[in-house]
Amino acid sequence: MARVFCIANQKGGVGKTTTTVNLAAGLARVGQRVLVVDLDPQGNATMGSGIDKRTLELSVYDVLLENATIAEARQRNDQVGYDVVGANRELAGAEVELVDLERRDRRLKGALVAANDQYDFVLVDCPPSLSMLTLNGLCSAHGVIVPMQCEYFALEGLSDLVNTIKQVHANLNPDLKIIGLLRVMFDPRITLQQQVSEQLKTHFGNKVFDTVIPRNVRLAEAPSYGLPGVIFDPSSKGAQAFVAFAQEMVGRIDLM
Ligand code: ADP
Ligand code: MG
Repeated sequence: MARVFCIANQKGGVGKTTTTVNLAAGLARVGQRVLVVDLDPQGNATMGSGIDKRTLELSVYDVLLENATIAEARQRNDQVGYDVVGANRELAGAEVELVDLERRDRRLKGALVAANDQYDFVLVDCPPSLSMLTLNGLCSAHGVIVPMQCEYFALEGLSDLVNTIKQVHANLNPDLKIIGLLRVMFDPRITLQQQVSEQLKTHFGNKVFDTVIPRNVRLAEAPSYGLPGVIFDPSSKGAQAFVAFAQEMVGRIDLM
């Protein structure tokens, strides 16, 4: 049975997409069958996995509107080793189109049922908002992975996300929980980052992943080659950290 995880944080530019594609590539590397679902109309996870969002015949938009199944909409760039249901700007319209439809928040969940036995992990890259798209992600997931930078305002934004997750848990998806907070773009030389990191551990205990993702330029360069950093430069510090994170996730699965 596939474990479904949303990579979510309503802030933009915090490392959601980088986490999604590199965790996917890391999991694929350690032998897991992985599907990435891009729920962001920007389509960065799609492009960053070597799939051209401009030429998609079927995308997650068609899946949400029930015009296509996962099996029909998925694509694979063999170099990256996982499947992708892509997204592009068309997805921005889904927000409005879904409003009048029934089960509007369960569309992704329904679609994933049919693909359940084909994957070990499904990773859903969420947009930087708490929108109907993100809600579809949260309703379909077993848990949420929250990438965050250890900055002063990081904790403030977190409370909105935690409240949303609590509400979805209470009303829509009793399976949902926070799997963990992932410290990303970490620079140990910056005292403030160390302090925020300590605060996180104090507040959230074992909900903070052991693995820390360092700030690493190779991770930022990789998307322009249509590759996750884990594939683009496996020996880089960033790639190694994401493979370690994939191993940590596999290890935690049995405890979830
Ligand atoms: P989000 O999906 O939350 O908007 P991204 O994953 O797109 O965030 O990351 C925002 C920017 O930061 C991108 O340009 C990305 O390449 C860069 N980035 C993400 N993680 C790292 C990292 N660990 N080291 C260096 N740059 C990073
Ligand atoms: Mg993104």
